[in-house]
Amino acid sequence: SRIPRIVILGAGYGGIVTAIGLQKELNYNEADVTLVNKHDYHFITTHLHMPAAGTDNPENARIEISKLIDEFKIDFVKSTVVQIRPYDKKIILEDSTLSYDYLVIGLGGEPETFGIPGLKEYALNIRSINSVRLIREHIEYQFARFKQEPHRTDFLTFVVGGAGFTGIEFVGELADRIPELCREFDVDPALVHIYNVEAAPTALPGFDADLVEYAMQVLAKKGVTFKIATAIKEVTVDGVILSDGETIRSSTVVWTGGIRGNRMVEEAGFDTKRGRIVVDSTLRTKDFENVYVVGDCSIVLNEEGKPYPPTAQIATQQGEIAAYNLVAAIRNTPMKDFKFINRGIIASLGKGEAIGVVGTKKLKGFIAAMLKKVVEIRYLYKIGGIPLVIKKGRL
Ligand code: FAD
Ligand code: NAD
Repeated sequence: SRIPRIVILGAGYGGIVTAIGLQKELNYNEADVTLVNKHDYHFITTHLHMPAAGTDNPENARIEISKLIDEFKIDFVKSTVVQIRPYDKKIILEDSTLSYDYLVIGLGGEPETFGIPGLKEYALNIRSINSVRLIREHIEYQFARFKQEPHRTDFLTFVVGGAGFTGIEFVGELADRIPELCREFDVDPALVHIYNVEAAPTALPGFDADLVEYAMQVLAKKGVTFKIATAIKEVTVDGVILSDGETIRSSTVVWTGGIRGNRMVEEAGFDTKRGRIVVDSTLRTKDFENVYVVGDCSIVLNEEGKPYPPTAQIATQQGEIAAYNLVAAIRNTPMKDFKFINRGIIASLGKGEAIGVVGTKKLKGFIAAMLKKVVEIRYLYKIGGIPLVIKKGRL
């Protein structure tokens, strides 16, 4: 019989781990595996707050896909997916069409804009290597512009919308970067303002209250002004309009107000909630038993029936199970149920500072920051072994 064709969409955490799992397990000629990704590199999304603020180089957050996969076992196609057609078992790429027997969707999330006027047009997002290159250059450019028009303090005002983990990690880096930029451009640091605006009654809603308090203190000391229980209502060419009626004039708005699944997944006719597909315990969609979904495009429910937050941690664990279950499907052997194992959460607050909960332990300060590095190195080891740790392990 014909060799089954597996197509993996997206080489993020979920997609690349699925691909690596398949290449380890499958024998030659057991399946044709194709991995499709927009870029010829995998990026470490969990690191992007640093290159976004300019405290690290974007190069350090990406890895060539050819270094991670065995091209004798997996065909890599650098292209953009434009349509998923589950009834026809076809994928429309910008430049060609692929057919599959089994599909893995790992296209990641998109910024959730909640229909807020002006967000799409005027706010920047931390979501890819290209998007963080833009933020970094944009920030530097504002300092350069200020030197030409010194009355424009809005060039030195930075608004970050949303104090979830992405917002908090980014303002931590930004606050570290500002003194450097002030020296470089001869700017008085007192003129620079960083606002982190959060709609919920607290920063990091749902996270441990003591640690949230600690994080806010660390960040406030570095110069971050929090506006809590205040929503961004509109973004304009001049800045933001807040729910309390205040206007902040700013030429830089970075939106970290949440993510949703991928629009293509909605358009394909899957049963979705905010662009994310609820998967069964084997990570397959309810309507198509040959379609697996991993990462931010998927929803896995916890014991209380609530979705787990979309994280790299869950995406990685899903990738392993998706690979296992694909092999099981091909070999007609039993599949495994996916069970999320929470290995903890650690969020950085800039250089040498972080907060986290691991098991029942609360961590803060330098220890938490070290542990965050350990987690990053463990991931590098998982996907690329010792050589990758040596090359990128200084992250
Ligand atoms: P992604 O990693 O988003 O990858 C999707 C891939 O699909 C990308 O390679 C993209 O190029 C590709 N793609 C997208 N559209 C197309 C298309 N049309 N055609 C072809 N290819 C396409 N989580 C944690 O667990 N721990 C952390 O410490 C952590 N820190 C974070 C820090 C930041 C700054 C951010 C933004 C997120 C962080 N997260 C963290 C969340 C985590 O990064 C995401 O949950 C995770 O990246 C989701 O993985 P994924 O596999 O769904 O997709
Ligand atoms: P999020 O959804 O977790 O946080 C978005 C925040 O924006 C929320 O607190 C929300 O109340 C706020 N918000 C929404 N609308 C707003 C408005 N109009 N005005 C002001 N605030 C508004 O999104 P995220 O921080 O990007 O995180 C996405 C996922 O990635 C989460 O699952 C998170 O756990 C994960 N993540 C993890 C880490 C880590 O573990 N270190 C780091 C970054 C992200």
